[in-house]
Amino acid sequence: MISAIKKQMRITVSDENKGPLAREIIKANMFRGKIIALTLIVIELCVIVLRLLVSPAKIIVAPWGYYYIMYLLMIAFMAAVLIILDRASKKEKIHIKRMNAITYCCVAFVLAWNMIITLLDLSVGGHLLSYFIALVAISVIIYLKPKVLLIIYLSVHAVYLALLPFFLPSGHVAQAEYINTSIAVIISIFIGLVIYRSKVLVFIQQKTIEQKNDQLNLLNEQLTETNETLEYLSQTDGLTGIYNRRMFDEISHDYWESCIEKNAPLTVIMMDIDHFKEYNDNFGHQAGDDCLIKLVNSLKKSIGSKETMLARYGGEEFILMMCGITKKASYDLAEKIRKNVEKLDIKRKYTVVAEHILLSLGVYRGMPSKQADVKEFIEYADKALYAAKRDKRNNTKMTE
Ligand code: GH3
Ligand code: MG
Ligand code: MG
Repeated sequence: MISAIKKQMRITVSDENKGPLAREIIKANMFRGKIIALTLIVIELCVIVLRLLVSPAKIIVAPWGYYYIMYLLMIAFMAAVLIILDRASKKEKIHIKRMNAITYCCVAFVLAWNMIITLLDLSVGGHLLSYFIALVAISVIIYLKPKVLLIIYLSVHAVYLALLPFFLPSGHVAQAEYINTSIAVIISIFIGLVIYRSKVLVFIQQKTIEQKNDQLNLLNEQLTETNETLEYLSQTDGLTGIYNRRMFDEISHDYWESCIEKNAPLTVIMMDIDHFKEYNDNFGHQAGDDCLIKLVNSLKKSIGSKETMLARYGGEEFILMMCGITKKASYDLAEKIRKNVEKLDIKRKYTVVAEHILLSLGVYRGMPSKQADVKEFIEYADKALYAAKRDKRNNTKMTE
């Protein structure tokens, strides 16, 4: 039976949660302890004043004199508790063992104090109320570990049971005082156990939710990172790092629109490496890839800080769009690009076509309008490129 109850009541708290749980319980107990201490001081002061007003002469008569001693004792003890708790709550670090010891002392004191008051009450024909209230109030208000709760309650009650015969008027049958208080002790212990258990359960649930939230946040961060990477990968060319064709098709129209808004002309430059297939065939695909990377770096250098849109249009074809430059500046930029590629001096061997990698360029410059489309400009630039190819390659042709 006892082991079944034990099993039912047992909750496993992980090692990492033991410290935070202890701190949370101490904090709750400290807060409640302060309120209780303050309330008890006020109550005892009121009781002293009332008693003095009603029957001032009884202050020196036993057992009434003992009451005053008890009231003053309670006020002094609770004032000390208030000071200790106030100081402890101002400190950043909570000393778990010390605070637990203080809590247990307070609980034992309040319970024992009420037990003694009840014995005094019984000696003058009074009732058990004080002890009852203390038993239930402590188990409801203060979180106590099951073992501590049992030890304090049973010890105080053992003392109560032992002292009871000395405080009862002679000839009194003490059945009710024994049985009722013992039942109250058992019920209070049970209430205390249930409240402590539910506190621990709520704490564990909170921690589990926090952990799940942390995991979710981490997953969200990873997902956002993955999405960003995916977005970047879907927009850029894996080899050269500039926009890919997909991205170009997506944003070229916006670029076109922004030129219309600025009422500026749009320059489109199409570029194609000359005889690149032969280079690949002679040096291999890897060397071809290296050449493409060097070429794009050269393109970026030629463009400099100008606001343009550069993309890989196809295998060894690139496209550049630029807003608001003159006819001459468009041609000069294309020529600068071509000459810088020539200067790269990427050697070709086993060939008669040229000594190094060269580029042909087609330029078109015109005023974009709502009636036309960016595709038309690209087509004109493409035609200019083919004219450059047909002519002699390593060449820039421009149409307007
Ligand atoms: P043209 O002067 O007329 O442009 O001749 P070309 O050989 O450059 O043109 P063609 O269209 O016949 O060949 C293009 C070559 O570009 C074929 C292909 O091997 C190469 N190429 C396309 N994409 C890549 C790439 O990503 N890496 C490498 N290494 N080569 C590529
Ligand atoms: Mg080509
Ligand atoms: Mg080519």
